[in-house]
Amino acid sequence: CGIVGYIGNKDAYTYLINGLKRLEYRGYDSAGIALHKGNDFLTIKKAGKVASLEAAFHGYDTSTSLGIGHTRWATHGIPSDNNAHPHVSATGKFVLVHNGIIENYASIKEELLQKGYKFNSDTDTEVLVNFIEDIYLNNQCPVEEAIRIALKRVVGTYVILLLSKDHSDTLFAARKGSPLVIGIGKNEHFLGSDASPMLEYTKEVVYINDYELAIITPEQLILKNLGNETVTPYIQKLDLEL
Ligand code: GLU
Repeated sequence: CGIVGYIGNKDAYTYLINGLKRLEYRGYDSAGIALHKGNDFLTIKKAGKVASLEAAFHGYDTSTSLGIGHTRWATHGIPSDNNAHPHVSATGKFVLVHNGIIENYASIKEELLQKGYKFNSDTDTEVLVNFIEDIYLNNQCPVEEAIRIALKRVVGTYVILLLSKDHSDTLFAARKGSPLVIGIGKNEHFLGSDASPMLEYTKEVVYINDYELAIITPEQLILKNLGNETVTPYIQKLDLEL
């Protein structure tokens, strides 16, 4: 399974679809991509191969320079189009991809069901995106704070990438236990489960640590821990050849 993300000044879709192909070796049963397009998301997800996802995107205007992608290895819910990621929150404000397992998703889901939330999938991931949205709407706090509050409640492993409708110039990412690499470009950032999707674009990467949250714009990578302290990104040079 794997995740990819792009924010910058180039075509996001090209990086995302090729990046997902690069990550195919990790194994998966479904794939999906969400693109931030103006005030909306274009989200397509499919059980099966990345090639089927690519076919499903034919005919759509994919132009944008912000997006996230995912290959799923099902843990909660069968492999299906509905259970594939990205998952969109109830009001459509957020879209999320996730690798890993939210072990305490059932109790959080129960709380959200009590509040009237409805779910379209059987995944732990759809619970998480709605949990973040619920905190965001109730607390009227910045997105990064809503993520932080949600992740402090989460038991399990994750790498998440999140887009917000209210932020057309920011990609949010966090990890605990599942890998996340961020490649640094010139006014662009490349995200991946490993460095293979970004090798042709940059040799400068940051390996994100557990319990770190990244707030990423084309120009800037801000890293914080879940205690809201700023962490200095440690930039490493890749000496791998393509
Ligand atoms: N637990 C999530 C799901 O079943 C993510 C699985 C994965 O790591 O791809 O949808």
